[in-house]
Amino acid sequence: MTLGCSADHCSFCGAYKVKPFRVKESREIFGDIDRYARRYPGTRRVFLMDGDALVLSPNKLVPILEKLEQAFPMLSRVSSYANGSNFKRIRDQELAELYRHKLSLIYMGLESGSQLVLDRCGKTSSVLEMIEAVRRAEEARIRSSVIVLLGLGGKRHSAEHVQGTVEALNRMQPRYLSFLSLMVIPGTPLAEEARRGEFAELNSMELLRESYDIVQGLELKRTVFRSDHASNYLPLEGTFPKAKPALLKALKAALDGKLWLRPESARGL
Ligand code: SF4
Repeated sequence: MTLGCSADHCSFCGAYKVKPFRVKESREIFGDIDRYARRYPGTRRVFLMDGDALVLSPNKLVPILEKLEQAFPMLSRVSSYANGSNFKRIRDQELAELYRHKLSLIYMGLESGSQLVLDRCGKTSSVLEMIEAVRRAEEARIRSSVIVLLGLGGKRHSAEHVQGTVEALNRMQPRYLSFLSLMVIPGTPLAEEARRGEFAELNSMELLRESYDIVQGLELKRTVFRSDHASNYLPLEGTFPKAKPALLKALKAALDGKLWLRPESARGL
């Protein structure tokens, strides 16, 4: 659909650095769909590449979704990355139409619920835009999978990162929530900040403390939680609100040194 990421400014992000943002021509996209349909006719789920396919207008998206439905008769779900600014341009009835054509899951990189932390890392979508986007998506029955990046505030802004993230998630009430842990990628602006001593990374215990403090503040009514990403020291999973006590118990045990943590060498992005 699209190559690269239209936002492409986040200082910590190493994705798509070699792929300048471009929207593919419709005939190119239809060609891709036909090619895949010949090879994988039984496809049930499709993810719209790359960084934010929802940058496309609904007028362009709907014919593509119709093409997917026609090409893959067993199609049950279409998903995509999305950012808050995408949603500002999509009306509620257009969201309903996207849902009718099986776009039923979006991945939203909140990263942090603190606007100060997002401003420092150059994220173009604001916290309020992302809260509103998730609320409107859920209202249109499009589920949201929200991603939080532990450690993004560094040592200096860890408290704001935790407090802002708790507030944003409690307002969003996403269906899915994932924690990732910051790993500074060489060659990114954030790596340069760290080299200059302007950004101090959190260590494993500090990242676990952030995770504990965020989970403790969450009042989620129905959210599937995961921190099994390879960047995390402690893989956890559960569904809020029922799993909250067990998640806090596991994080406390890890903070007390009573639980195995993923070795540094086994962490990855
Ligand atoms: S919006 Fe996502 S993919 Fe794009 S630069 Fe930021 S973190 Fe990377």
